Amino acid sequence: LYTKSFYQPVRQLMLEVLDSYENALASSKRIVAILESDRLDPAAGHDLQVNAGHVEYDTVSFSYAGADEQTLSGVDFTVEPGSLVGIVGPTGAGKSTIMKLLFRFYDPDDGTIRIDGTDICDVSQRSLREHLGYVSQDPFLFYGTIRENIAYGVDDTDQTAIEEVATLAGAHEFVTQLGAGYSTQVGERGGDLSGGQRQRIAIARALLRDPPILILDEATSHIDNETERQIQRSIDALAGDRTIFVIAHRLSTVRNADQIIVVEDGRIIECGTHESLLDDSGTYADLWRVQVGKTDSVSDTFLDTTVG
Ligand code: ATP
Repeated sequence: LYTKSFYQPVRQLMLEVLDSYENALASSKRIVAILESDRLDPAAGHDLQVNAGHVEYDTVSFSYAGADEQTLSGVDFTVEPGSLVGIVGPTGAGKSTIMKLLFRFYDPDDGTIRIDGTDICDVSQRSLREHLGYVSQDPFLFYGTIRENIAYGVDDTDQTAIEEVATLAGAHEFVTQLGAGYSTQVGERGGDLSGGQRQRIAIARALLRDPPILILDEATSHIDNETERQIQRSIDALAGDRTIFVIAHRLSTVRNADQIIVVEDGRIIECGTHESLLDDSGTYADLWRVQVGKTDSVSDTFLDTTVG
């Protein structure tokens, strides 16, 4: 249906990453890191073929250059194709780093990451990133219409396809309520759109490329309860057709996930469904009680992730 342009999605992705992870001060370091990461490409790297979207982290360890302690230690999990995975844990635990390794912004020091059985270090980065969709916490919208922002990176698309992905992303309804609908102009920071609305436009944009693996970094701030519910509904609606990772700061967002991975100090400390983790009465269960307001006795470390 869509002719996919080669360079645009890569550019989009770099912008999203720059936009998401770095403030102005740190962005030059990030640009260097991303440009340098292209040197990680294997000389004879073949193209990644993704049929199902099975993802496997096999005892992955990693440290940023100069870090005193290991950033990730023995991270080990398997994701079934088409499943929804929540990654939760306190700030600085390593959630984003786990996902950065999937994009090969860095390679593991030890261990292997496989997609559909292929070591991602053996494939070209271009083909790897073509199969991954990324929605940052604070998505980049450029000056232009909402239609252009959704269509960015995909040639030959039409209004029907745009409305289809916007509906899936939970954006269609609010867009049609705007004065000029899909022709409404938005600015660099999304004009009058709320953080949650911008994130839904970005989800629609990612969906138009139809990646078999989608990574969503949930916004930490400026999200009211109703917006949060809408984003949660969008995520639930997308689940099943593709493998989805959600870095969640609100546990309720990933309550329906097939698998919730709890990360602390670079390690997976618990893993399971919402119900099984509650039954285990461990860290997740404590955190959940804090988030639903039943106790305030959880260690300070986890209060960083507390959700309103
Ligand atoms: P948050 O919820 O705040 O986004 P996180 O769980 O996603 O946190 P990461 O961003 O993965 O955590 O960071 C894990 C650790 O690695 C932290 O100690 C962080 O300071 C460090 N770190 C992250 N990015 C870099 C980098 N580019 N260079 C060096 N250290 C980094």
